[in-house]
Amino acid sequence: MWILNEMCPMSEFSIRSIADDLFRLFFPSVCPACGRPMTEGSRTICTRCRGEIPLTGFCRRADNPVAERLRELKLPVVNACAFYFYVAGSDFRRLIHAFKYRGGWRLAVEMGEWFGAEMKEGGLYDDVEVLVPVPLHWRKRLHRGYNQSEYLAEGMARMLGCEVDTRSVVRRVHNKSQALSGRDRRWENVQGIFGVRYPERLNGKHILLVDDVFTSGFTIVSCAEEILRQVPDCRLSVATLAVSRNELLTAHPLSPGRAPKKEEYEYFLEP
Ligand SMILES: [Zn+2]
Repeated sequence: MWILNEMCPMSEFSIRSIADDLFRLFFPSVCPACGRPMTEGSRTICTRCRGEIPLTGFCRRADNPVAERLRELKLPVVNACAFYFYVAGSDFRRLIHAFKYRGGWRLAVEMGEWFGAEMKEGGLYDDVEVLVPVPLHWRKRLHRGYNQSEYLAEGMARMLGCEVDTRSVVRRVHNKSQALSGRDRRWENVQGIFGVRYPERLNGKHILLVDDVFTSGFTIVSCAEEILRQVPDCRLSVATLAVSRNELLTAHPLSPGRAPKKEEYEYFLEP
């Protein structure tokens, strides 16, 4: 495999696979979810984790708890979904952590490709024209070096056959991490923090807003509302890689709806 025939010029694919082989030689890969060594032929996460990841199946169902939650919050989405359930303390929480804090942009692209392939098969997102990753504030982006949602969107866009727009929507305010704030504070925290710089680029399009995790939904709703306000002639869908199972089972403080009964969601919660 290492002997190259001059008559057969190296394709981009063979260059990339040699680079991958070299990379693996020096950095033997471990599964980013469970930390065990990756076996031959496994991709992105190990075979065992592929079998165990709690996929939601939401990208194949127009009526699902994520879409329902966003509509409760008065966000007029065409479709909405999340790829897998995010449970505190599970191996799959580490996946998000890996591409957020350990420079795992490559993992974000691959997870995006997997998610995008499932969306493509489901057929509900065929008329999406542009993917907009939820932006980070420039200062945070500079500190981390990249926005993980952009890489996620890049992988998804490859499978869905559309473009990614990382310039039209911006985050104007550098808000602090929301993890430890109370719910009301968290909502106040994200009000008016986004802006649309080039509304004309998004005009008339079906936009898919992409983020890594759906917890309270505050950040996504705030970003989506700003897009809909400044680009009234667009349609909007939402896709996140993971969704917090606990949040879906709790009544949203800003929605008039009741807390769903667990039995009503049992169908979705069984991995
Ligand atoms: Zn694993």
